[in-house]
Amino acid sequence: MKKTMKLVSACLLGIKCRWDGESNKNSKVMKFLDNEILIPVCPEQLGGLPTPRPRQEIKGGTGKDVLEKKAKVLNENGEDVTEAFIKGAEETLKIARFLGADEFIGTSHSPSCSCFEIKDGTFSVRVIKGRGVTAELLKQNGIKIKSEDE
Ligand code: SF4
Repeated sequence: MKKTMKLVSACLLGIKCRWDGESNKNSKVMKFLDNEILIPVCPEQLGGLPTPRPRQEIKGGTGKDVLEKKAKVLNENGEDVTEAFIKGAEETLKIARFLGADEFIGTSHSPSCSCFEIKDGTFSVRVIKGRGVTAELLKQNGIKIKSEDE
């Protein structure tokens, strides 16, 4: 059987690219490796942000609002990292196109990669419906997106 190609949030495959220098390794996602080619991508690193880095959340909206310049991404020190998030999303889309990947599996609640819910911008446990910046851009460009929970 021909293997299909998917982009995946790198941290789900055990890559230590998360804000605190750790990963979100997900054994259920790793099992896809048996039948599919998984391409790890970390949009925040692709946007030029360091690892480790301060936590970041979308303030005043969702990834869609960030792409439409109606909301910003701020880190916990109050610094504006919106441009890095948009750059990371665009670079991820380029990789998807180079490789012909037609699906993305994203980390839950990430301001970049989440496909369903994101933190509400208050650096608390509260979440709102909405996608991260990269998941939104990929979806807008015809790539199927799926949460790690799905
Ligand atoms: S940007 Fe995506 S891949 Fe990178 S650490 Fe955050 S959730 Fe993981």
